[in-house]
Amino acid sequence: MNFLSLLESKREGQTLAPAQIQEIIAAYTAGRIPDYQMAALLMAIFFRGLDPDETRAWTIAMRDSGDILQFPHDSRPLADKHSTGGVGDKVSLPLVPLLACLGFRVPMISGRGLGLTGGTLDKLESIPGFTTALAPDRLVRQVQEIGCAMGGQTERMVPADKRLYALRDVTATVPSIPLIVASILSKKLAENLDALVLDVKFGAAAFMRTAEQARELAQAMVSLGRQCGVNTRALLTSMDTPLGRAAGNWLEIRESVACLEGHGPSDLEQLVLECTAHLLVQTGREADLVQARSQARICLASGQPRRKWDEMLAAQGADLRAFERKLALDHTAPGMVEVKADRGGFVNHCDARIIGELVRDLGGGRLTKETIIHPEVGVDRLAKPGEPVQVGALLGRLHAADQAQAEAAASRLRAAFTIADERPKPAALIVQMIV
Ligand code: URA
Repeated sequence: MNFLSLLESKREGQTLAPAQIQEIIAAYTAGRIPDYQMAALLMAIFFRGLDPDETRAWTIAMRDSGDILQFPHDSRPLADKHSTGGVGDKVSLPLVPLLACLGFRVPMISGRGLGLTGGTLDKLESIPGFTTALAPDRLVRQVQEIGCAMGGQTERMVPADKRLYALRDVTATVPSIPLIVASILSKKLAENLDALVLDVKFGAAAFMRTAEQARELAQAMVSLGRQCGVNTRALLTSMDTPLGRAAGNWLEIRESVACLEGHGPSDLEQLVLECTAHLLVQTGREADLVQARSQARICLASGQPRRKWDEMLAAQGADLRAFERKLALDHTAPGMVEVKADRGGFVNHCDARIIGELVRDLGGGRLTKETIIHPEVGVDRLAKPGEPVQVGALLGRLHAADQAQAEAAASRLRAAFTIADERPKPAALIVQMIV
């Protein structure tokens, strides 16, 4: 393969053949294409795009870069969810044990933070002892035994995505529809699923800024997922304001546990229940969404998913005692400040992009491949749009690596909020379903 000439072809907007794509992905995964050349190809794809046949070939080649999970025959459907990424988006964490309690098998393969959006793997790794590096046979065994597992790309599971994901993150090439389709679906197709629900976000802190772009991305994923034999649906959801009241790796684990204990924020709970309801309908377990939502709500309130969460943590090496001790602490980062309202009124907006950049800059996300994540930093107790506030009321807490950094960042957290005299109209969280 002459990689340079393929690079030139894509730069000039020509189409790559499936066999060429297969060779590129295999060679990059094997370390035969250096990052600087692959980064150039990613940027050419960012500007020139991939057509549907190229996107399909790119996705299949990535899926086939590692093992495809093989599960024994079982009446429990294999199901999963994936999000295109947002700030405070921790839906997967309470969702996985909830689905397992409802009789699904969930072999979730997630990613790390991308850009200013948080990553499920980074969040999970803030749990003492928890491992996300699961060999395929261990992942299958755990899913068969307890109904769920949460792991990441490894040298054996979608290794092409493991490498490309990290490279895209630091070369400003994430918001490309074909590259997102291939990244997400390669992981999900390697799980050998029956049903998949996708949370496709749009807005200030999403890779797709507008609902139209998000619709295009959702349609591309639903169509390719279905062509590949997976019953796929997508929800278009707004990402202008953070999901829940916390953003930052450990802080989001805490909030997910609160959701499992029935006292999580209502927007998070709504999205968890909605994803669950769709999967219940997609797999024929419930006839309609109304019944399905009610079944999901009853199961969440039963406390069973909270116990399943502990079971999953223990199965993946977590030290449950240390985890409980950490949960009991009010804050775990060395620096902390409270940011308060300097005027009264109603919270009009809390800007997810400002919050995402703030958490990343505090050390919660990456600026280069070498960045070491600080799991404890972030923001919590965020006031939500529509809430009344008086002068001096808490708008949010900042958690930082030291007190000076927390204090220096306070004005940025304050700037994320606008406060108005009138209560703003509630904005819809879920705006459309794509089937
Ligand atoms: N999530 C992924 O797994 N990949 C992307 O490209 C974006 C979000």
